[in-house]
Amino acid sequence: MVVIDGKALAKTVREDLKEEVDELREKGIVPKFAVILVGDDKASLTYVKSKNKACRELGIEYEEIILDSNIEMQELLDIIDNLNERKDITGILLQSPIPDHLDINKAFKRISPEKDVDGFNPANVGKLCLNQDTFISCTPYGILKIFEAYGIDVDGKNAVVIGRSNIVGKPMSMCLLNKNATITICHSKTKNLKEITKEADILIAAIGKKHFVTADMVKEGAVVIDVGINRTDEGIFGDVDFDNVKEKTSFITPVPGGVGPMTVAMLMKNIVKATKALNSSDNL
Ligand code: NAD
Repeated sequence: MVVIDGKALAKTVREDLKEEVDELREKGIVPKFAVILVGDDKASLTYVKSKNKACRELGIEYEEIILDSNIEMQELLDIIDNLNERKDITGILLQSPIPDHLDINKAFKRISPEKDVDGFNPANVGKLCLNQDTFISCTPYGILKIFEAYGIDVDGKNAVVIGRSNIVGKPMSMCLLNKNATITICHSKTKNLKEITKEADILIAAIGKKHFVTADMVKEGAVVIDVGINRTDEGIFGDVDFDNVKEKTSFITPVPGGVGPMTVAMLMKNIVKATKALNSSDNL
């Protein structure tokens, strides 16, 4: 059994990116990332902070736009339009969640596909479904990088994804399909979940419930990827009961230190990709 070290892998990805950013800067091209944050959601503030830190380390310029939670939809769209038009901005991210009175789908759609480094514009989601070059949303992209780095072959494997969110479950499933896995997507209405997960060569948990995946749900030798981040007074826990599940697996990600650091690293990779594409005639 191998415990995947997402922290170390993310560091390698960032080191490679640093060289690319340095090369861009030598040519006078400066990547600049804009993050829009609406309200003061605690978890979002933590995520934004880690994105800022990663940018600083790599030499990517960073701009944070913090908006009052009462902002109107039109104001938010105007701010996105402005960032779309600005030549210095090469990547835009709207931190979710946003307050309920705002339409997040409308906002994601407004972000220019060329600067949509989170991969949530429907045009980019469509490209992912068509298996075309695009910005893959960062968490699934990070998991693909883990598979590549650890030599985990997805081709022909039986992959089960628990969770169907637009942020993780759905793009993850598409990524696995694009890599020739046979995919099953499970969700809160799925019946006989355990019977399905026990058949998984690759099991991805993106549910948001502490230790939801127990040892009896896992096939011997499976690859188990835990996306969950569940904050409690006792600390941060994944969706997988790591201590009891790990011995059954061939590979497993811990929480923290597994998928989380990879998400931020792949965001940086998407920013560099966007910067390059915006500065070349060969746009995405
Ligand atoms: P979400 O709430 O949007 O989706 C949760 C999914 O779990 C839903 O599709 C739902 O149908 C499914 N689900 C809920 N109860 C279930 C049950 N009993 N059986 C089967 N399926 C069930 O959440 P999300 O945004 O996809 O995030 C999932 C988890 O991943 C959260 O803990 C979140 O914090 C974490 N997350 C981590 C990263 C990272 O970088 N590591 C990135 C994004 C999200």
